[in-house]
Amino acid sequence: MKKEMIYEGKAKRVYRTDDSDLFIIEYKDDATAFDGKKRGTITNKGILNNKISAIFFQLIEKHGVQTHFVKTLSDREMLVRAVKIVPIEVIVRNIVAGSLSKRLGLPEGTTLKRTVLEFCYKSDELGDPMINHYHTLAMELATEEELKQIEQTALKVNEILKSFLAQRGIVLVDFKLEFGRKDTQILLADEISPDTCRFWDSSTNEKLDKDRFRRDLGNVEEAYWEIYKRVSI
Ligand code: UDP
Repeated sequence: MKKEMIYEGKAKRVYRTDDSDLFIIEYKDDATAFDGKKRGTITNKGILNNKISAIFFQLIEKHGVQTHFVKTLSDREMLVRAVKIVPIEVIVRNIVAGSLSKRLGLPEGTTLKRTVLEFCYKSDELGDPMINHYHTLAMELATEEELKQIEQTALKVNEILKSFLAQRGIVLVDFKLEFGRKDTQILLADEISPDTCRFWDSSTNEKLDKDRFRRDLGNVEEAYWEIYKRVSI
């Protein structure tokens, strides 16, 4: 049974349930970009992200990675295991895009010779600054063991998603993961959707993700539908 809301973010609400081990996540249509400076709505985004995330979490679980996903409850809601989010955003990059292109002066679309992992400290006031292992350990955001597991899992998730998507004509450019603690376990949490990943069409390089909203490219809802259509077969 759905109880009180315990958290409202930019794209999701989290509710307690009558079982203290379970939360309900509700996906919204609200979209923000550039630290909340750009705001809007993408019609049906919540429904599509709920469905797309569920598909990805089930795929990842099938490959032996533990996630917070339990089951889909409705169009916009999923039941998840209650975790405490580790305050680190893990960014996985296969191809240069977005902030990396600006930071390193490399053109968008450059294939990286090796997968790049980046960590950001989850803090809205600070604008999610990039941090390294030393900061993470000094601030006690995670232990060395946890960090090792988070890195290995992020790389494994990258391989799982990359090959699944390649078979569906989608290039996985980059994406963001969040992890949660459940007792002593680390579980993959949050969402995996066109809000948190960059997806390019393999043959045309057309952007099929939130960059269409960030950069006012039009056909935003259509791009989310296209991803859902391709991953659900
Ligand atoms: N990303 C995200 N949430 C964030 C920051 C980044 O989901 O708060 C995702 C983003 O959608 C992209 C990847 O992480 O798939 C890398 O993003 P980048 O650092 O290039 O930042 P951006 O260009 O989105 O500002």
